[in-house]
Amino acid sequence: MCEYVYENGKKCRLKAVEGSKYCPLHIPYEEGESLMGEEIKNLKDKTFQRRLNRGQSYFEGVYLYDATIKEYRSEKMLVFKNSQIKSLVIEDSEFKGLILINSTVDRVILFHSKIEVLLVKGSTVFGLNVLQVDFSSNISVRDSSVKYLMLNSTQYVGEKAEESYGEKSAKGVVEIAGLRDVRRIGINTRYPLLRKILEEHGVNVSEGGRRTVKVNSLIIRDVSFDAAPRYKRQVRLSIGGFSGNLVLENLDVFGHIEISWSNLKSPEFVHVLIHSNLIIRKSHITVGPTWAMTVLPSLPIELTVSGFMIIEDCHFNNPYAEEVFYRLARTSWERSGDFERADEYYYLEMVARRKARLKARRKGLRKLFDRFEVLFEWLFADLTCKYGTDWKRPILIWLFIVNVLFPVLFFVTKSVQGLSSSLSFLDYEYFSIVTATTLGYGDYHPIGVGRIIASVEALFGMFMWAVFLTVFARKYMR
Ligand SMILES: [Zn+2]
Repeated sequence: MCEYVYENGKKCRLKAVEGSKYCPLHIPYEEGESLMGEEIKNLKDKTFQRRLNRGQSYFEGVYLYDATIKEYRSEKMLVFKNSQIKSLVIEDSEFKGLILINSTVDRVILFHSKIEVLLVKGSTVFGLNVLQVDFSSNISVRDSSVKYLMLNSTQYVGEKAEESYGEKSAKGVVEIAGLRDVRRIGINTRYPLLRKILEEHGVNVSEGGRRTVKVNSLIIRDVSFDAAPRYKRQVRLSIGGFSGNLVLENLDVFGHIEISWSNLKSPEFVHVLIHSNLIIRKSHITVGPTWAMTVLPSLPIELTVSGFMIIEDCHFNNPYAEEVFYRLARTSWERSGDFERADEYYYLEMVARRKARLKARRKGLRKLFDRFEVLFEWLFADLTCKYGTDWKRPILIWLFIVNVLFPVLFFVTKSVQGLSSSLSFLDYEYFSIVTATTLGYGDYHPIGVGRIIASVEALFGMFMWAVFLTVFARKYMR
């Protein structure tokens, strides 16, 4: 009889391996190998599969090599506690959940399965891969050492969270908390090695199987990354094709955080420090009014990016949020001395601010006044020179208006008189330039409505020169 004693005091009661005190499941690797050689692998696997087929789903203190579980159906939780497993692959299965407690597993692959719960706690896992999994309650990986964590094509398929007295029941939550030595967390990201690893374990992932990772909340909290100099710079948190509420809390990331193709609902950043860059691409950032009042004001303090910040092709439903994100991006580029990029974000920031002013809740005359102000700002600051970031634009506008628009106006209204009785179009052109530059030689002069047009042109010409000089100086004479 096996002498392994369970935590509850009961004995194992399986038949022991000859020459050992333990059964095939509980015999440690070295002892088994010295007694039986390679044959121990077979025996362990056979015993494990037989126990599984008999409805046993609780494994404590077991030593396993490659445990592969296919098309497993069960109403019970599959539990591994205080166990050592080289690789655990679960494929095409439908069961209540997988629980790993205080165990050491080199690689866990949970693939194409339906579960309620996944819990990893107090364990040491090198690679944890959750791929194409439908879950109906929660996924939680906490207080463990996980080097590579991949969550691809995984969705919450439970009922919509019920709201009672404003308190949401925490269903559909993926929680990654209290992890140590992390090198990479990837949500729906391509990872060149992953395919190879899967193939090694006999898992065939079809090409078309990519889905958005859809959850109510993805919480990544208190994660400490691998600080070994060799891996430090490679540390990454990549999120792609994710939909839900993203909460990043208490993170100190040496490398990058990349978010792309995602729909971030009210993202929260609490004490997040990124030593390299933050890149958000092709994503929608959708926030509610509560978010704008609580999370937004503290965002510049809570989110610190030491490198640069890129926000590309993103859509915001709230101009205040848009303004703050673009401002963070602008200051990051200013810090690094790239004023060209900083200007791009400055322009976006100003446009967002203008939008925010239009959205401001004001009434009556005040609102009308605001609208006019915004219109003027658009006309004089944006249209003429993109808030002082584009010096070519005032020149082009000036050339077009002075050389085409005004000559045509004078020509059509026949409102210029000169020395000769018949004027060619070139004469109108000449008159227009003389007026716009306020030279005023006096050989031609406007009559009738031409006086008004000429006055406007003189004002326009002077204004645009001033704009051009200012913008040019701002750009090149720092
Ligand atoms: Zn045993």
